[in-house]
Amino acid sequence: MNDSELERYSRQLLVPGFELEGQEALGAASVLIVGCGGLGALAAQYLVGAGLGHVVLVDPDRIELSNLPRQIAYTEADVGRFKAEVLAERLQRMNSEVTVTHHSLAFDETSGASLLTTIDAVLDGTDNHGTRLLIDRFTAHRELPWFMGAAVQMAGQNIAFTGLREEGCYHCLAPQQASVDAGGCATLGILGPVVATVALRQVLDLIGALTGVAKVPWGVMRQYDFRANTTASLPLQRRVGCVVCDPNVNTR
Ligand SMILES: [Zn+2]
Repeated sequence: MNDSELERYSRQLLVPGFELEGQEALGAASVLIVGCGGLGALAAQYLVGAGLGHVVLVDPDRIELSNLPRQIAYTEADVGRFKAEVLAERLQRMNSEVTVTHHSLAFDETSGASLLTTIDAVLDGTDNHGTRLLIDRFTAHRELPWFMGAAVQMAGQNIAFTGLREEGCYHCLAPQQASVDAGGCATLGILGPVVATVALRQVLDLIGALTGVAKVPWGVMRQYDFRANTTASLPLQRRVGCVVCDPNVNTR
């Protein structure tokens, strides 16, 4: 680590349990961020600020005026441009030491496998159930951890999944989640700080997993009700017969 890096990261290098080893682990890691909206754009800024080595952004959408209240990486001048492209430019201006790659396309059956090449972990910044199911299946196949997050109106939730899914997977939850995701932010609404809080929980879990500075509650669904100001933690369980994580069924 050179003098400039030591100065840039000096405050986090002071944190017990993070230190030089944590910084080096972050610098060696590659993370795919699927979706560059309220979750992904905020998470990407914190990860790049902290010195994550390689960030890969994927999002097929263009910036809309209605994104600006919560997707604070973007400005009025960016409306109409691709999110992944604008965010990549911003991240590179924030930290020229990290590598940023972007793809203005969807994470889907066609692109999923190739997007995960050389990736160590995935952060979910999507707004739909179908893409999360794909992330779950593709990352289970590669035995990669992923960090799910979702928010709508005044509520949010997040879960960290290990590569091996011993504690269950997103498919185990699928029946319940399908009804939760019946409507997204576009129809139900969302308040900016709600989605930002969920994104930062995802980032903390990810940094904890990469560096060991924090305990990661793997396989625990954390649910936040910001209207009542309450939090609940629900440990997942592997569902017998799950096509992704039951070792007697899956065809990884
Ligand atoms: Zn499962």
